[in-house]
Amino acid sequence: MGLKERVVLPLAKRWISGVALDSAVEDAKKANSKGIGAVVNFLGEDIKDPATADSHANEYLRLQQALADGGINGFASVKLTQLGLGSDNEGMERRLEKIAANADHLKQLLWLDMEGSKFTDATIKTYLAARERHQGMGVALQAYLRRSESDLKTILDAGGRVRIVKGAYRESHDIVYSTKKEVTDNFGRLMGILFERSEGFAIGTHDSLLVDQARKFAESNHTNFRFELLKGIRDELKEELVKSGYKVYEYLPYGDSWYAYSKRRIKEHPSNIWLLLRSLV
Ligand SMILES: Cc1cc2nc3c(=O)[nH]c(=O)nc-3n(C[C@H](O)[C@H](O)[C@H](O)COP(=O)(O)OP(=O)(O)OC[C@H]3O[C@@H](n4cnc5c(N)ncnc54)[C@H](O)[C@@H]3O)c2cc1C
Repeated sequence: MGLKERVVLPLAKRWISGVALDSAVEDAKKANSKGIGAVVNFLGEDIKDPATADSHANEYLRLQQALADGGINGFASVKLTQLGLGSDNEGMERRLEKIAANADHLKQLLWLDMEGSKFTDATIKTYLAARERHQGMGVALQAYLRRSESDLKTILDAGGRVRIVKGAYRESHDIVYSTKKEVTDNFGRLMGILFERSEGFAIGTHDSLLVDQARKFAESNHTNFRFELLKGIRDELKEELVKSGYKVYEYLPYGDSWYAYSKRRIKEHPSNIWLLLRSLV
């Protein structure tokens, strides 16, 4: 075991379940015991080697079976580039079809994460085609992208389901809202459309302002939706939302690629560096 695994991995477990599938199943059970559902992601992206993409697809099948065997309220969320999007599109579709059919068989949902804007069109197109056969599928949309309102309407017109998030990738200025306020305002606009037109959607944020706004929408519009929050972030908010009677799901990533994911969470909130350092002394 290298230095990274010995020193950083235990600290990164704030954001990830661990390296092995068992750790995610364990965390999903813990979440369920608190009245929280689980959205589980096997970490990986930008996979170009078909054999590796096959092994990721197989891991999702194992994950779905483990959730079913454990009687867990939870489902998988997958990134299409880990199944070969961008390098082996036919293979990606074949792998996704297997995972989606397995989700149907096990009566689980299956959601697609949204990646960098290079993949937005392909992700939505793939989603809409797969959803015709697999009704339990949903896809994430990013509020920082100017195009998302139009994408949301297209998806809702087709009867699809969406998780709204702010967006986590570095994008060029001309395609994104550039200030925090603009992103938050757009998130609010997208939520307004969802509360009016959709059900079974997800609000993926830790931002109290947006959570409060969602609660207001929910008071006047009793639709079926859920809050989704990442592992290790704002646990007190998760508990409070459960107590208030909302559906809450925790996003639980696991797998070998834990380091890149943890770096993304630290970059988002550099104060996490201090949390890490403090827990070392
Ligand atoms: C369930 C879920 C699924 C997601 N899926 C995708 C996806 O498919 N594609 C994508 O691009 N992005 C995805 N994201 C990430 C998302 O785009 C944001 O980068 C992330 O949620 C931070 O934005 P925020 O809405 O929480 O607001 P922020 O303004 O970043 O945070 C609001 C508050 O939450 C707390 N907080 C947030 N992040 C951290 C952190 N890392 N450490 C400590 N405190 C923190 C702080 O108190 C902060 O003030 C997902 C997020 C969630 C919750």
